[in-house]
Amino acid sequence: MIKNLGTFKDFSDGTLKTVFDVGDKKIIEMSLLFNKADKDVVCVPTHHFCNLGCKMCHLTNKGLNKKMTPINSEDFMECLYKSLTKDNIRKTDKDKLLISFMGVGEPLLNLKLIEEVYKKENIIKEKLGYKDIGYAIATMMPNDNILKLKEMVCRLNIPLKVHFSLHTPIDNERRNLIPSTNVFVEDALAYLVNYRNSLQSNKELMEKYIKLHTTNDPIEIHYTLIKGVNDQKEELTKLCELLHKYNIPIKFIRFNPTQDMQRSENEEKWVNKISNSVPGLRIKTYSPPGKEVGSSCGEFTKHYYHEEIETETQKEEFEKWKVKHLVLE
Ligand code: SF4
Repeated sequence: MIKNLGTFKDFSDGTLKTVFDVGDKKIIEMSLLFNKADKDVVCVPTHHFCNLGCKMCHLTNKGLNKKMTPINSEDFMECLYKSLTKDNIRKTDKDKLLISFMGVGEPLLNLKLIEEVYKKENIIKEKLGYKDIGYAIATMMPNDNILKLKEMVCRLNIPLKVHFSLHTPIDNERRNLIPSTNVFVEDALAYLVNYRNSLQSNKELMEKYIKLHTTNDPIEIHYTLIKGVNDQKEELTKLCELLHKYNIPIKFIRFNPTQDMQRSENEEKWVNKISNSVPGLRIKTYSPPGKEVGSSCGEFTKHYYHEEIETETQKEEFEKWKVKHLVLE
């Protein structure tokens, strides 16, 4: 029996996060974002926990020894319906939905979930009143799993965009920052280009795709600038070289500081340098919504995952946070 642990609101931008326990403290949290004029966006997980250990992640860098259990589609769908039911607080008149697999976990390690959710698309539309649904994933490791994704996307005509969380263009540094990834940066970029070419050569799929995404490019790089970690001249020079070679749009996601890592102040400098080096490339900067409720980049409602290692002070902080943000039990 799935237990609803509450819906929490970020009063600065309206983001609504709903948290569920599907049993045995297996958490699913979904965030409904209102930052797009033409569509609702729901940010969803693929796993109940993630132990890939990315150093900048607020979730896994705690030495917790929890398993990374894939979410099954039955639990996922039930949580999705509850997170998006158009009650008083969730009411929007938008008829498009973007399901964005950018929450807890690594989407390329649970392709089955993406496939099954897509196959239930008509039920989602019927139950929740959307006319069109688009899909997106953010991945740390576009290795040969992306070929399986591509095969599935092209076979089923899924309008799915892939965002590659690069975070440094230098292989050794990347292994240090994202220890679970083995893929070389250039191999990853080549996989992405291969994905783009395959989708763009599929006319029927692209017709669907452009209705649901801003551009007709199904790939994008995400880069979070962290002070002294990945924001130096060496990284910038290498990044310009790679962007020139592969011509992949890039989005700088503003970092939410952790205890040990701070946001870099070099964003403007980097954007200017890249636009001069790679004229015409799409470059964006982005402050993720939902910061107050842990929906922002690499943040989650940590309490529900870390309860067992929280100090008394952290537990008290959580209770205060809950009083402030809980809008539905
Ligand atoms: S950033 Fe994503 S993949 Fe990395 S540890 Fe956190 S949840 Fe897992």
